[in-house]
Amino acid sequence: MTEHSETIAQLRDTVKRVCDDHPGEYWRAKDRDRAYPSEFVQALTDLGLLAALVPEEYGGSGLPLALGAEILKAVHEFGGNAGACHAQMYTMGTVLRHGSEAQKDQYLPGIATGALRLQAFGVTEPTAGTDTTNISTFAERKGDHYVVNGQKVWTSRAEHSDLMLLLARTTPKDQVKKRSEGLSVFLIDMREAKGHGMTIKPIRTMINHSTTEVFFDNLKIPASSLIGDEGQGLRYILSGMNAERILVASECIGDARWFIKKARDYACERKVFGRPIGQNQGIQFPIARAYAEMEAANLVTERAAELYDHSKPCGTQANIAKLLASEASWHAADTCMQTFGGFAVAEEYDIERKFRETRLYQIAPISTNLILSYVGEHELGMPRSY
Ligand SMILES: Cc1cc2nc3c(=O)[nH]c(=O)nc-3n(C[C@H](O)[C@H](O)[C@H](O)COP(=O)(O)OP(=O)(O)OC[C@H]3O[C@@H](n4cnc5c(N)ncnc54)[C@H](O)[C@@H]3O)c2cc1C
Repeated sequence: MTEHSETIAQLRDTVKRVCDDHPGEYWRAKDRDRAYPSEFVQALTDLGLLAALVPEEYGGSGLPLALGAEILKAVHEFGGNAGACHAQMYTMGTVLRHGSEAQKDQYLPGIATGALRLQAFGVTEPTAGTDTTNISTFAERKGDHYVVNGQKVWTSRAEHSDLMLLLARTTPKDQVKKRSEGLSVFLIDMREAKGHGMTIKPIRTMINHSTTEVFFDNLKIPASSLIGDEGQGLRYILSGMNAERILVASECIGDARWFIKKARDYACERKVFGRPIGQNQGIQFPIARAYAEMEAANLVTERAAELYDHSKPCGTQANIAKLLASEASWHAADTCMQTFGGFAVAEEYDIERKFRETRLYQIAPISTNLILSYVGEHELGMPRSY
């Protein structure tokens, strides 16, 4: 990372200024109202930070993933939450890698400026869950268009997106040799789809994540919405997942740093029984341990990003990064709570909100068990468990 250290320092400084302009009370109000942090997202957009990974020829900064990861890490470290907009940074990767020249020319420049928001990603379905090949949303080809029917769940930011990347079946399961075949990816213009076969219903959750259910009822989309070859969609989606895991791991590391700093500062200043609580090893050691876990997770995440940026296989590293970072942030969150005692649950300290927010990462975008099963099978050669 030393080759990038100057750029990282500049990026962190820029992100910190945006976060300083959107302090705890901003996030608390949004959380209370379950409102979208439009102002924060706009500030990141105006500075080009969400276009970090879009190649320069399309108007982005063309930065490596490692630096995109530093941006999101800094957002979380300085008290923000990138969950509202991180997908704008990486969802376009599927279009970039697998879209036609015409699709790239049509969409990427708008995504780079932020005029077009591509931050809705429709994969998960209520009945299939993690078993993605079992999805039943179906896109049927009819002449020059497809007709989509089905339902997605947990489609985050759908109400704040112009485009949606959708995974749907195009060949019935019983007509393909392997279940991973017959799935296709579409880039849907939601501005046209809403009210014409696409309905979005928000899901109220324990965190302010703008997540929704999306229903497709005979939604007609042009055949030109198809990304790449019909039937190859799962492969395209999977190819983007390593980037997503590395970026989410970076957010977790940012969260862990936020909790550790908060806990450390309070442990040094809060005096009970006539001495700082941080003098007690029962308070000090969990904070030190959280720091050690965060540092280890950070190293693995940087390694995964480095492999990714050199186009080397990084599935195991990206998965391990996400596993360790989500656990490091959770342990740091729990430690911070314990350090603050009663004040931890008061909203004004932001700990209880961040605590809720960081818990998500052990579940989404991929749950811990599924990561362990990936490592068990692909790295350690043990039998597949599903
Ligand atoms: C707030 C939020 C935002 C999200 N945003 C999006 C989004 O934008 N787009 C999108 O497509 N999805 C999104 N998701 C979905 C997310 O990716 C899934 O929730 C996640 O992958 C887990 O899937 P599931 O909820 O269906 O759990 P399930 O698949 O039902 O699994 C439930 C539990 O069982 C475990 N389990 C299942 N099978 C096995 C097995 N074989 N071995 C061991 N354990 C197993 C899982 O690890 C999990 O702990 C979001 C989810 C949330 C909560």
